[in-house]
Amino acid sequence: GVRVRFPPSPTGLLTVGNIRSALFNWAFARHYGGKLVLRIEDTDTARNTEEGYQYTYDSLRWLGLTWDEGPGAGGDYGPYLQSERMDVYADVVAKLLAANKAYHCYCSQEELDQRREAARTAGEHSGYDGHCRNLSPEQIQAYVEEGRRPVVRLRMPDRPIVFDDLVRGEITFLPENLGDYVLVRANGYPLYPLVNPVDDALMEITHVLRGEDLLSSTPRQIALYEALAEIGVGGGRTPRFGHLPFVMGEGNKKLSKRDPGSGLGEYMQRGFLPEGLLNYLALLGWSIADDRDVFTMDEMVKAFDVRKVNSNAARFDPKKCEAINAAHMRMLPPDDFAQRTIPFLAGAGVLPAEPSADQLATLQAAVPLVQERMNTLSESVDMLGFLFVDEDAFTIDPDAAAKVLTGDAGAVLDASAKALGDCDWTTEAIEAALRASLIDGLGLKPKNAFGPVRVAISGRRISPPLFESLELLGREKSLRRLEQARR
Ligand code: GLU
Repeated sequence: GVRVRFPPSPTGLLTVGNIRSALFNWAFARHYGGKLVLRIEDTDTARNTEEGYQYTYDSLRWLGLTWDEGPGAGGDYGPYLQSERMDVYADVVAKLLAANKAYHCYCSQEELDQRREAARTAGEHSGYDGHCRNLSPEQIQAYVEEGRRPVVRLRMPDRPIVFDDLVRGEITFLPENLGDYVLVRANGYPLYPLVNPVDDALMEITHVLRGEDLLSSTPRQIALYEALAEIGVGGGRTPRFGHLPFVMGEGNKKLSKRDPGSGLGEYMQRGFLPEGLLNYLALLGWSIADDRDVFTMDEMVKAFDVRKVNSNAARFDPKKCEAINAAHMRMLPPDDFAQRTIPFLAGAGVLPAEPSADQLATLQAAVPLVQERMNTLSESVDMLGFLFVDEDAFTIDPDAAAKVLTGDAGAVLDASAKALGDCDWTTEAIEAALRASLIDGLGLKPKNAFGPVRVAISGRRISPPLFESLELLGREKSLRRLEQARR
């Protein structure tokens, strides 16, 4: 069966590029009823933090990208933290050395630099020149006596490496561009180009879907898989590769983890829905149909075909990302929508984390008024806060006051208060009373009539529909705010 992997480093940061890779692997696994392995690439302990691990798990759970094997899920191919697999790598390296698939290289950094420079000047390829490939026992002895400590290099085959990329088609790498590369540092530290393919082999990964930035490491990894198969390590099959297109940000430059909009945390804080963000990230290289941008994850799983991924660089468009999220906001059942706003309203101190029955009822009644008007959940604070805030804490946005509560606004507020003092308290009756008083009575245009009322009761220039808002707020609070705005 299909076995794919997502191998993040626990640095406490997941970028939209990482998440797209996770998403495509997840959709691929689910489409074929296969397994997604979460493997934590934490050999570089200096870059890992305790919170980084938890952040990785929490983020993937928040996104709904479930894994079948890995931390918290178990599985027969563990441990799934590379930091717990050091003895595995040492064992594999010993086998590679014994089979002469790898060798010790004693060249010092200065020697390598010198010879690389000389090759460059002579117009030759400047990769590793194979100096230590076939040392005699005497030469080795001499190096050891000098006190040199060797790195381990993979012996690369002297032929082109050709593979059929699931996204990009056939790709050929020529041997002159593929020098023998380092698997293990002189201090014994095993490097990514070793541990990543070794684990893929041992975990019997069938397909590797990852970013195009890793394309240049693929021929080297394929050579290592082949060597591992020959010495009987792992399942013996080289995985199929699919390299997902680059994601470009502002100015058509590759989106970097330092760019705003590249980290997951920002989307969580702004109140994106996981399904909205994932839908947008799916569009970075894939589409469900030419005329369709919005789909559910179930629909994606059903339709996903990695061979349909486009190899052209994808452009990250924050506006479109928000629009796709907005479409998912509209699709939520109202009760679900209400529940999802609570953490944001609570975070802003507008509601308690566990709202009372009354507060919940108001929230639920308000949702239909705002669901079509919000693009992200954090907007609920501005849109709905005025319904819940303590009267003492209610304030009017100074900018809105300066623009709207001027000129005749005082007269408008007085007339409104009067009209609202004794009408029935339904949306229709409120609307009728205000129209009669402000438009028919004072002869105002609707904008000039209702603008001051909106600012007075919501504190903002943009709010849910006015008459409904008044009804939800209740007569008492509405009158108090009209009065307060008068001062
Ligand atoms: N740990 C590597 C990364 O985060 C994995 C790359 C791969 O998919 O092979 O970039």
